[in-house]
Amino acid sequence: MHTNNSPLSTWALNVSPSPTLAVDAKAKALKAAGADVCGFGAGEPDFDTPEFIREACKKALDAGKTRYVPAAGLPALRKAIANDYLSKGFRNIDESCVVVSPGGKMSCYLTILSMVSPGEEVIIPAPYWVSYPEMVKLAGGIPKSIFASDKEGFKITPEQLKSAITPKTKMLILTSPSNPTGVVYTREELAAIVEVALEAGIYILSDEIYEVLVYDGATASSPATFSDEAAAHVITCSGFAKAYAMTGWRLGITVAPKPIAAAIARLQGQMSSNCTTFAQYGALAVYEQPEKAKAAIEVMRTTFDRRRKTLCDALNAIPGVSCHCSRGAFYLFPNISSFGLSSVDFAAQLLEKELVAVVPGSAFGAEGYIRLSYATSDEVIKKGAERLARFCSTLKK
Ligand code: GLU
Repeated sequence: MHTNNSPLSTWALNVSPSPTLAVDAKAKALKAAGADVCGFGAGEPDFDTPEFIREACKKALDAGKTRYVPAAGLPALRKAIANDYLSKGFRNIDESCVVVSPGGKMSCYLTILSMVSPGEEVIIPAPYWVSYPEMVKLAGGIPKSIFASDKEGFKITPEQLKSAITPKTKMLILTSPSNPTGVVYTREELAAIVEVALEAGIYILSDEIYEVLVYDGATASSPATFSDEAAAHVITCSGFAKAYAMTGWRLGITVAPKPIAAAIARLQGQMSSNCTTFAQYGALAVYEQPEKAKAAIEVMRTTFDRRRKTLCDALNAIPGVSCHCSRGAFYLFPNISSFGLSSVDFAAQLLEKELVAVVPGSAFGAEGYIRLSYATSDEVIKKGAERLARFCSTLKK
């Protein structure tokens, strides 16, 4: 007996399209049609993937590395990733705790799907990355957000977490450095939050995809390194896209306690099998040539830092706009609430009138803000900020 008259499932009907990808697609389409668009939409580094990674991938392709490998990933890559995490202070792990998935997004989704049952709650600090609530819904779970504004430096408190936990809570999602705010929690701040989660016996998905992109002396901390108990309750997701300009390669990493990693690998084995084999050989070069990897990151990191300062200064110079100068990832999340427009209207009018693409804050669970990615050229930042200032000057405050 069918209760749903649509050809689509309740999953498909209930899931929202990704607003970050939608803005990116619109900006790229306008550009392709010849429009002079300043794109601050999707968080995608404007660099090429470093040559030594590309070369390793090409070599693998020419050597016939075009067949299946184990679903959880190329054994040599999993081993190299496990060793790298051990060197960063991770505890009680080996390669069987590592899964390589088709993109960091899939790493997060498979983690949620492996751990969250229908009706269980997942606490998501807002502003949050657009896909977390949808992923939870796709698992039949219930997303519950707790909010921290720019006044709170976009950081939730341990007390806020405590009061959001119910007997149905299964997981907390942490993202530091944050998408969309760029905020980096200190180790002490994270430790206090982790303590509340551990006391309540809930798990933490720590999305650390921006881990190497920190500036001005900020350091990113991994909750899994805090204690043995934390290591048993924290699932760390990351990937190659943001650190090595490899967005299109689709290579994500999950490091989890063994039984959880095994469940993720099992699901992946049924859903996608392994990530592209020769792409994994490219990623392996990161660990085989660590000096080159470090140098490549440093070039991009210092460039992002320069752009961050330029954009933050430019935003704060616009009457009516105030921007928290966050020290991580490649996003700024200015407050535009003084103009009295919804963030969706603000972003739509800005694109229409000035050809500047930004993502409305409401997509991240935060009305009154817009997100700008500074993983774009200095020229676009300068031109885009000028256009944004001109646009704002036409609005009533
Ligand atoms: N994570 C990036 C962003 O937030 C890429 C797009 C996406 O996957 O959402 O812009």
